[in-house]
Amino acid sequence: MTEASQRVGADRKRAGRDGRVKAHPPAFTARTAGAALKRLRREAASWQAPVLALMAAEEDDPFKTLIGCILSLRTKDQTTAIAAPRLFALADTPQQMLAIEPAQLERAIYPVGFYRTKVRVIRDICRDLIERFGGQVPDRIDALLTLKGVGRKTANLVVTQAFRKPGICVDTHVHRISNRWGLVRTKTPEQTEAALRRVLPRRFWIEYNGLLVAFGQTICQPVSPWCSRCVLAPRCPRIGVVRSR
Ligand code: SF4
Repeated sequence: MTEASQRVGADRKRAGRDGRVKAHPPAFTARTAGAALKRLRREAASWQAPVLALMAAEEDDPFKTLIGCILSLRTKDQTTAIAAPRLFALADTPQQMLAIEPAQLERAIYPVGFYRTKVRVIRDICRDLIERFGGQVPDRIDALLTLKGVGRKTANLVVTQAFRKPGICVDTHVHRISNRWGLVRTKTPEQTEAALRRVLPRRFWIEYNGLLVAFGQTICQPVSPWCSRCVLAPRCPRIGVVRSR
């Protein structure tokens, strides 16, 4: 079955009693996205989202946020949320991290994905922070990007979550949901970040990642979103959604 015919099937499921297919609402604009985010903000407390546990473990501390993000790459937030506090109980500064044997760090973060490689990356970052930044995590995206192993997602997360400075951290949830809403029409997270920087009002940038990741983990899930439980359902254009619950 082609994607187009699946979409027709999904449309039919939304047909009213008169059998007529309801038209999808229009794509989100900056204004409707703002209203949606305010609505999600009110709902977020009721979600049991793994990302919220991870953010709590990082305590908005720049070093913990940076290292927590490295741990979370290609790893479920549930796993990272357990491993990160174990690691920070051993060391929560670059100096302390370098004073501990790599094998002990590996044991602390296991079963985080690529745990051996990540310990090497973390130690390289710690050395770099001490040599070039006086042991402090920089608060600018361009400076963070000079650290080996730090990409745009991590750099944006550190400036927004730990320093409360403007940035838009785009991961798979943010990329997918922004496109389902029609707020952007992009193929990659990098394109999504650039497009969001143009269309999303700055006052929403800092909270955008945390809200959408938690929403994506619990309601607007990747393969089959829970549209029947979603407070945004009446207004959501559901672009690209071929199956929902
Ligand atoms: S769960 Fe469904 S209705 Fe809600 S935002 Fe996602 S695609 Fe739209």
